[in-house]
Amino acid sequence: MKRFRLNRFGAAVLAVALVIGAGFGGPAAAQDGENSSPPAETTIHVVQQGETLFRIAMLHGTTVEAIAAANGIIDVQVISVGQRLLIPGAQPIAPGAVVYHTVKPGDSLHKILRIYNTTLDSVVTSNYLTSPDQLYVGQELVLSYGVSGTVLPTPARLHPVEAEDNIYRLALRYGVPLNDLLRYNALSLPAPLFAGQRLWIPGEGEADALVDLPLPFTACTIAPIPAVQGQTISVHLATTGPATLTGSFMGFPLQIATEDATRHVLLFGVHTFTVAGVYPMVLTAVAPDGTQTTLRLRIRVDDGGYGAEDISLETQQQDLLNTDVTEPEWQKVAIMMSGFTSQRYFDGLMGLPSTGAVTSQFGTRRAYNGGVLNTFHSGVDFGGAPGSSILAPAAGVVVLAESLPVRGNATIIDHGWGVYTGYWHQSEINVTVGDVVSPGQVIGMVGSTGRSTGPHLHWEMWVGGVQVDPMQWVSQSFP
Ligand SMILES: [Zn+2]
Repeated sequence: MKRFRLNRFGAAVLAVALVIGAGFGGPAAAQDGENSSPPAETTIHVVQQGETLFRIAMLHGTTVEAIAAANGIIDVQVISVGQRLLIPGAQPIAPGAVVYHTVKPGDSLHKILRIYNTTLDSVVTSNYLTSPDQLYVGQELVLSYGVSGTVLPTPARLHPVEAEDNIYRLALRYGVPLNDLLRYNALSLPAPLFAGQRLWIPGEGEADALVDLPLPFTACTIAPIPAVQGQTISVHLATTGPATLTGSFMGFPLQIATEDATRHVLLFGVHTFTVAGVYPMVLTAVAPDGTQTTLRLRIRVDDGGYGAEDISLETQQQDLLNTDVTEPEWQKVAIMMSGFTSQRYFDGLMGLPSTGAVTSQFGTRRAYNGGVLNTFHSGVDFGGAPGSSILAPAAGVVVLAESLPVRGNATIIDHGWGVYTGYWHQSEINVTVGDVVSPGQVIGMVGSTGRSTGPHLHWEMWVGGVQVDPMQWVSQSFP
């Protein structure tokens, strides 16, 4: 059986249609548009990284307008990963059809069997599972849809929030536990609601089937899934009440930022030489009363598909490899770019630091003069005329602005939460240490200072003390 291959950013468009069954959308859909007749079949689509409403509409044979109307979406550009969308009039999936599911945090085998109405036997056989109770995040499962013949779970309902609603009143009104309501909608207390918002009201036993996390954890999302060598992953966690989180991934301690005592975010740079495989992440929440709860995840890391190149150096350039020259500078830069500032300056997509063409990508494995491929290109190179502008890609604070022997005129910006960017070989530096820069601000000029063979900008990013591909941050929004 051919395995389903994800693209580098984890978009898994085939994997996410959760058909809940005919009639499910009846009451909810009837409220959505006076003119549309009730759909015969309604599907819930969980938005994946890299998806757009247009792509989702194509996938389900419907239109952007129909999805927007059914979900009260005003700006069709704005959907978020993990959002549940009601897809009216989706083409039904025939029983026995092969569907794909990428395992996410909170998935359990029990949940997957229920959602796809399939059997343990068929899952084990189709996926050659030897330990079906040991799923990992990013695992791709091939499933035979609708073969179990059992009754589908009680459908959930959508509740359009009215001005006088609050989360406690809704839990009482629908007779569902408050925690289930929070978990099902990825909310945490105090959970402010706004008129026009739509809340999922779990049916009987439904909340447990959809999210399988130990309380106080109510939500956990990871992007991208799977993780990729040389890229950043973000993990968003919610807890029912205030909690202090600690954790480790691949054996490294994690720096976890908490935004309002119940929302927690960690960013992790996966080193480009990490061997592809499945790695444990352990997260522990400590409540104010000292109660400890541990969430264990196993996360798949994929090969980044980086190329390789051999660089030949003339004898007079050999001191590039002389560690007496390179090592002290490396130490200085590495220490500076491995810090952690608890204030976050970056917000959303980063801009490009240069309008020049990319002349060398991040991650290419490098050997010198036919040696071993034990180094890699640690940033992205932009070609450009000397003197062309270098722009700050995001807000931050300048923590280094000086001339270095190898990197030439160098600037380092601290963007907060362990995210740093560096700019090497400049002809001119336009900022000084302590400057607060804003996105798009000119911070320097392209040049060829230091060990450089021609004018270019080397743009480098560190996350959690690891060099990662900054171009991911131009297309994926963080945190
Ligand atoms: Zn470079």
